Amino acid sequence: MKDHYLKQIRDLYGDELYLESNSKIKNIPTFSISNNDYECDLDSFNNQINQCQKCSLGGTRNNFVFGVGDPNASLLLVGEAPGEQEDIKGEPFVGRAGKLLDKILQAIGRSREKDVYICNVLKCRPPKNRDPLPNEVNECEPYLLHQINLIKPKLIVALGRVAGMTLLNVDNSLKSMRGLIHDYNGTQLIVTYHPAALLRNSNWKPEAWKDFKWIRSIID
Ligand code: URA
Repeated sequence: MKDHYLKQIRDLYGDELYLESNSKIKNIPTFSISNNDYECDLDSFNNQINQCQKCSLGGTRNNFVFGVGDPNASLLLVGEAPGEQEDIKGEPFVGRAGKLLDKILQAIGRSREKDVYICNVLKCRPPKNRDPLPNEVNECEPYLLHQINLIKPKLIVALGRVAGMTLLNVDNSLKSMRGLIHDYNGTQLIVTYHPAALLRNSNWKPEAWKDFKWIRSIID
């Protein structure tokens, strides 16, 4: 709570904190991106948050989809939000797109159990798979930040334009976000095609494969 207040003050006034007496304290310490009230291992963290009702998706989901994979992964894949199958099973990327993702991971010598963690920006399914709303992202993103803090991946890969735009807080085309190493709160981030897009248009597969070879070269 105190950290939150100080962070707000810093966002408004910068690094110099003015006191009533007119003296000032310099250099407010940098705040952790993680919340100290959150549990410090992934399973306990999941138990802590999986009854979340911070937005309306809490009322429509079947399952809270926390994430799956190797808790010490060097590669973190982040999709947009659970779809129908994911909502039913409580696990990310288990539908057709997920099967393709598993094949891509196998091709770079990884799997969802080996050196990879998979989750989404939103942990609950938006009705009819609509795009995440800004308030849903605002409520849910702290969970992703804490997952990143616990996993400490070397590289985050945003799957698809919506995940990329949401994490980078921009309104850009996939083309303009691809091929660059971005920064996400201190962790390297790359944006590539969503596997569902590759199912819709297989002409994009060679480009996606280039991205994954590049991803492999970064994490190897
Ligand atoms: N699409 C996503 O972005 N995430 C999933 O978990 C499934 C489909």
